This record gives sequence, C-alpha cells and structure tokens, in this order.
Amino acid sequence: KLVSRQYCSQDTIIKIPTPGGPLCIGAGYLTIIAGPCAVESRDTFLEMAGLLKSMGANVLRGGLFKPRTSPYSFKGLGSQGLKIMAEARELTGMPVITEIMDVRDIDLLYETVDILQVGSRNMQNYTLLEELGRLDKPVLLKRGLSATIEEWLLAAEYILNGGNNKVIFCERGIRTFEPWTRNTVDIGAIPLIKQLSHLPVLVDPSHATGRWKMVSPVAKAAVAAGADGIMVEVHQSPEQALSDGKQSLTPENFQILYKQVIALAELE
Ligand code: PEP
Ligand code: MN
Repeated sequence: KLVSRQYCSQDTIIKIPTPGGPLCIGAGYLTIIAGPCAVESRDTFLEMAGLLKSMGANVLRGGLFKPRTSPYSFKGLGSQGLKIMAEARELTGMPVITEIMDVRDIDLLYETVDILQVGSRNMQNYTLLEELGRLDKPVLLKRGLSATIEEWLLAAEYILNGGNNKVIFCERGIRTFEPWTRNTVDIGAIPLIKQLSHLPVLVDPSHATGRWKMVSPVAKAAVAAGADGIMVEVHQSPEQALSDGKQSLTPENFQILYKQVIALAELE
C-alpha cells in the first residue's frame, strides 16, 4: 500500500510554501494549527490571525462550510468567509486550512487554501477523496467518528492512489459509550500510525474532548506520544462563539499551551 512504511521507509515531509519559506509538516517538525471553529466575521478573524501569528502558530484554521448536526445551526459563511480568510492569509503570511465538504467547492477553495481538510463525517466520502487525489494540494484527513485504523489508512490510500501523496492524518477522537467527553481520544493511534505509515499525524484535542479544560492536557499527551503537531480551536470570547465555544481556548490559554508543547517537543 502507498500509505505504508513498507512502501516508503522514510517519514514524508509535507512542505507548504509561505512568504517566509516553506513550512515543513512531519518527520519531527512540530506543527501548530490554531484558529476559530468557524470564520464568524472579518473583524474577529483578522484580529485572531494577528494574535495567533504573534504567538507562533504555524497554520491558521477557520471553517467556512460547517458540517452541523442540526440543519438549523450556523453553517459557516461559505464563499463570503473565504474572502476574509484570503485577507488574513495575505496580512499575516500564514498558510490557511479549511474543511471541504463537497467536490463542487474544489475550484473555489483551491487558489486560496493551503491545506484542504476532510472532516470526520467525510472520511469515507470516496468521491471526494478521489477528487482530492487528483490535486497537488495537501489534505488533512480526519479520522471518521467510528473509523478503525485500517479504514482510516485505506481512506488515505484513495488520495495517494490518485497521485497526491500530501496527506496528513488527524486523530480527533472516536465515538464510544462515554458522553462526558465529546469523543474518546485514541492516543495509541498516534504511535501506531507512525509505525504503519510514513505520513504525518496530528491530533485535534478540541473536537476530541469537547471541553476546553481538557484541551491542553490532551494536546500535551499527543505531543508526548509522538504526534507531529496539534490543531486547536481558539476564540476571543468562547461563550459567544457560533460553534464549539465549549471546547475553544482563549488566546491567553492558547499562548500557555503553545509554550508548553514547544518545550515538550524539544525534550524528544
Ligand atoms: C473541524 O475541525 O472543524 C471539524 C468539524 O472537526 P471534525 O470533522 O473532526 O468533527
Ligand atoms: Mn469545531
């Protein structure tokens, strides 16, 4: 299999061009992706981008098309939000990541977005995976809500098989019998994926826990377990967030976490 260590014994490094030189993901580089769950407004997103850049985050996240459980919840600003994201990218020089839910949005997102995210709910959307496999664009592939490691690896295989080997795995917790944590983090999946595959693995402690107080401990556990980085939700006023406020860190708490994970990674 193309995802396997047998196929490629060396860690794959995914290079993202930025004005300050390429950003490397994988092979021991620590990548910190941060930003709000969704792009909510121009003012708040541009302010957040500036804050996160100054704090050292490597990639700016922001949902434009949100997969919401209820059709009546805030679904994101869509293409209007993309203009705001483009402005933040231009202003800070940070690469940006957003979720793609529909193959029809590839052309829209391709120019501006540096990493296309496949959300948990779409991990087995094979039509989408095949289309992303035809692109020359990094893809962050989140683990399905109830996907086995094998299913997750094979989902990545769809993208690699199309010719795009720039795939980044992202563990975001799986659904178990436990409702108190939003999902259950599979820490063991990190070293396992690193053994089975040459591709980078990140962890999203925000969606994996659903509670901001658990985000930092789980982020640190992930880095200690060998993750190539983390993706964290940050919001200026989490209680007012249009989505996922309960699991969002304030910029102040993100700054503390950032310093701690950098220190941890240096120990490795
Ligand atoms: C997200 O990261 O914005 C998201 C919706 O996460 P997940 O697909 O893991 O639920
Ligand atoms: Mn979210």
